[in-house]
Amino acid sequence: MIPATSFSGKRVALFGLGGSGLATARALKTGGADLTVFDDNPKSVEAAASEGLPAGDLHALDWRGVDALVLSPGVPLTHPKPHWAAELAREAGVPIIGDIEIFVRERAATSPRAPFVAITGTNGKSTTTALIAHCLAHAGRDTQLGGNIGVAVLTLEPPAPERHYVVECSSYQIDLAPSIAPTVGILLNLSPDHLDRHGTMENYAAIKARLLKDAGTAVIGVDDEYGAGIADWHESEGNIVLRISKEKELEDGVYYRDGTLVVARDGATVEEYRLTGIGSLRGRHNGQNAAAAVAALGVLGLSHGEIQAGLESFPGLVHRMEQVAQAGPVLFVNDSKATNADAAAPALASFERIHWIAGGLPKEGGIAPLEPLFSRIAKAYLIGEAAPAFAATLGERIPYEISGTLDVAVENAARDAARSGEAEVVLLSPACASFDQFRNFEVRGERFRQLVEALPGVDVFRKG
Ligand code: ADP
Repeated sequence: MIPATSFSGKRVALFGLGGSGLATARALKTGGADLTVFDDNPKSVEAAASEGLPAGDLHALDWRGVDALVLSPGVPLTHPKPHWAAELAREAGVPIIGDIEIFVRERAATSPRAPFVAITGTNGKSTTTALIAHCLAHAGRDTQLGGNIGVAVLTLEPPAPERHYVVECSSYQIDLAPSIAPTVGILLNLSPDHLDRHGTMENYAAIKARLLKDAGTAVIGVDDEYGAGIADWHESEGNIVLRISKEKELEDGVYYRDGTLVVARDGATVEEYRLTGIGSLRGRHNGQNAAAAVAALGVLGLSHGEIQAGLESFPGLVHRMEQVAQAGPVLFVNDSKATNADAAAPALASFERIHWIAGGLPKEGGIAPLEPLFSRIAKAYLIGEAAPAFAATLGERIPYEISGTLDVAVENAARDAARSGEAEVVLLSPACASFDQFRNFEVRGERFRQLVEALPGVDVFRKG
């Protein structure tokens, strides 16, 4: 745990007692803050109180003289409308912050030189965060991985001069971290997402860009107009910018071309990295993620050999184009995290001859946006509530069956894929939420793995 010593003796209100909220409350208490914690759910308040955290209704708090309101990132700060606790704090002029702000203050106070990489973007955050942390650890650096990736940042080891922090930041977390000043800030890409929480695209882009404001080096994906504009603006402000692209050659920066990453300076190639053959980094979208990693790791002083070795040994993340097993020429891939059509597109684009397991709780737009990729589908196995709608979209063009459940889909897809004796892929990339049949996408992915592992003649890949 990182005790929040910079809040010692300060009056702090904390709202939101989920996983990261509880971890933050513990860090504040251990750091000596004069703390009051609360949640709209009485059960969460009770649980916090029973472990000795000072719980109390923040409606009744005297907000004068409160130093900070610490808000969980899930609690609305502005859109669709501010939460009541945020309103009360704002009326009293109390700053509103989150756990990442506490972490950056702690780092600034104790080990300001501890290398700190902060990653944001619409897609690929977790992959890039995990990849950078993996390469650092593989090169023998003392590495801590956390943030939005599922490990609350204040549960990490306390800052030390040579300790590297690799932290995934959602836009909600950036909104609550005004003094974030990472050694390297990464903005991967920007496309409309979560506009319900951020209002306009311009506001969303502005929040994401804030991560880079005081970064030592800003690594920016320039394939979308927002990233390109933000990179130009940062440079014009005199900041150090490294551009990355998965689509076009750059004069300066790191770009992806045919399975290779090229590091260019003044139009000349300085270094190259091979991605071909690295199963966990398959696809152009991973070219973008790996380009960001290469740019950041270069700034942190890793050698070419260390970075290449890190890329090659990256085990990948579970549920994201995760290679689960092989049965002869048939590969089984778990992409359960793909809960909408956009997220399923990279997996469909990464393989040919696909036995595609899709469906679940439908999202608006269905699978129509995936039409350009349909030619890669040998057959679709449709599950869950979305099955009839997906069948209607596939129509006459693509063979499909309504499997109904994942069990039936896996069995039939494995049987059909084995039939040709050629390289085929059984891919779970549902383009749907899981809640009609599973608790969440993780449970759905785990079930897929179990079903695949139980098939005859499969070689299971173990996570490194
Ligand atoms: P995030 O943490 O931003 O949600 P993940 O790394 O968990 O992103 O990847 C989730 C899914 O998004 C992946 O399964 C993949 O389909 C897609 N994806 C990953 N990286 C990118 C990228 N750079 N651009 C577009 N889509 C991506």
